[in-house]
Amino acid sequence: MHEELDLVLLGGVGAGKGTQARRLAALGGIPHISSGDLLRQHRREGTPLGRAADAYMQRGQLVPDDLVIGLIGDRLRAPDAATGFVLDGFPRTVAQAEALDRLLASQGRRLSRVLFLSVPTAVLQARAAGRLICPVCGASYNVQTNPPRLACVCDLDGATLIRRDDDRPEVIAARVEEDKAQQGPLLAYYRERGLLREIDGSGSIDEVTEALRQAIDSPEGVRD
Ligand code: AMP
Repeated sequence: MHEELDLVLLGGVGAGKGTQARRLAALGGIPHISSGDLLRQHRREGTPLGRAADAYMQRGQLVPDDLVIGLIGDRLRAPDAATGFVLDGFPRTVAQAEALDRLLASQGRRLSRVLFLSVPTAVLQARAAGRLICPVCGASYNVQTNPPRLACVCDLDGATLIRRDDDRPEVIAARVEEDKAQQGPLLAYYRERGLLREIDGSGSIDEVTEALRQAIDSPEGVRD
């Protein structure tokens, strides 16, 4: 992999973004930065940001750009992100993408790649409905496709797994709609800049990781 690796992973709810982002981060020795995880942490801690984001997240709606941009900006300025990062869940809008470009430019950096995990909507909904997460370390499992070794117990730390409260079917439907509305312009934004690589996200977890690695190593501008 490259020396400085500034990556964005895009994909609808249930596309496997979180799982793959963690793997890429571990492979590259760079942090996995999930806007959803950061927001959930603020909610748990009851910070002003967490309280402001709560109502939007409960309804499966996007949290306003200014709040999320501030949150990610702070995180990207942390020392561990100096040599790269894997962004997961951010940007979700063109305004966020523009803010990210400005933020990186101010540090003399630019994105290395934007990886889009593409999975049919029906598969996305089924995956999200089967998802279980660890409330302690954030690891993600799926009852059908990626079960924990012991039912409902995290492989990594033994905590009891939970269903995310926004993985309920009615909230999933709202999130899929929200994703679709935002994704088109965002994909166009990165396609125009020659950064976008589309990866088939419907294979096994290992197959998708390998496809992502190849896409990261492929020369710029070869395909999108
Ligand atoms: P996620 O874990 O990425 O699926 O995010 C869970 C929820 O957090 C979303 O449904 C939104 O309400 C909120 N959220 C996460 N990332 C963003 C973002 N980049 N912009 C706006 N809202 C976000």
